[in-house]
Amino acid sequence: MLIIMKTDATEKQIQHIVQRVEAMGLRAHLSKGEERTIIGAIGDGRPIIKDQFLYLPGVDRIMPITRPFKLASREFSPQDSVFSLDGVEIGGDGVVIIAGPCSVENRSQLIETAHAVKEAGAHALRGGAYKPRTSPYSFQGLGEEGLEILAEARSETGLPIITEVMTTEQIPLICQYADVMQIGARNMQNYSLLHAVGESQHPALLKRGMMATIDELLMSAEYILSHGNRRVMLCERGIRTFENTTRNTTDINAIPVLKSMTHLPVILDPSHATGNWEYVTAIARAAIAAGADGLIVEVHPHPELALSDGGQSLKPERFAELVTQVKAVAQAIGRCVAPSKTHLLAGCVDV
Ligand code: PEP
Ligand code: MN
Repeated sequence: MLIIMKTDATEKQIQHIVQRVEAMGLRAHLSKGEERTIIGAIGDGRPIIKDQFLYLPGVDRIMPITRPFKLASREFSPQDSVFSLDGVEIGGDGVVIIAGPCSVENRSQLIETAHAVKEAGAHALRGGAYKPRTSPYSFQGLGEEGLEILAEARSETGLPIITEVMTTEQIPLICQYADVMQIGARNMQNYSLLHAVGESQHPALLKRGMMATIDELLMSAEYILSHGNRRVMLCERGIRTFENTTRNTTDINAIPVLKSMTHLPVILDPSHATGNWEYVTAIARAAIAAGADGLIVEVHPHPELALSDGGQSLKPERFAELVTQVKAVAQAIGRCVAPSKTHLLAGCVDV
């Protein structure tokens, strides 16, 4: 249930409602908009009596949340959620580009890629240290050594780091090294992991499961949000369909649909969505045209030697071309590519 406060409600009145909500054994979540504050009163599914709040001072009206997800809904927070990652705004006016190899393989591979993607205009560096591989005999990642290499790349380039977390036990270690924890498609419905990522309060990138509906993705985001962690971005990465020419089928619809259903930033991963580097740039352009807030792209200096996902990885020079084209598309729809770390004070970057 949403308690919509009057535009002139005082802080004291807001706090009074929060206390009443909590005294009833419910959780109170505040959304402070430009005009008014909305208080989400979330329980355990038992009915909440709205008259207990309706006549309290400062309350304008009560609205049930009709969606199965609450805190992730646009109803709860009509304005877009924006959070800063080391000075780069995620979910703001500018489109953000995250790039890097599928896996951290060794120091020189990662550092070379980090410099190359930064040069091309990326805002953050991706790279897996713990890899969820379909076969137990495939490269599983370097583990903590991979995290150390990522941290070194950050101190050399200033790029924030995004890396996958696969288990609850890995969370404290990954939080020490990475700026964002990625929850992969295979773990989208690992509810104990989502719960723990929520409690960590660390920024999270939640990928859509390969067989998950949009509602299910939002319910998973709700697990993180309901533990007080508001810094969540969603990632469409292609779903499984009968089509097998490409690794997955990009659900472009998901971008405008998610943007209408949720206030959370929505990004797209054209690398896993297509599985083939030849299609990555086209789908990246389509994602931005459809309203995505950013991209996460696999880049490798020598894709033919990659230990994972080489076939869908762009070489640095092709990635630089992708960035140029994405800037043009962003501009065509009245957006821009967010200022990169080197241009933070310069506003939108010119094409
Ligand atoms: C990845 O980002 O390398 C990855 C494993 O992605 P997904 O979880 O989308 O398959
Ligand atoms: Mn990959």
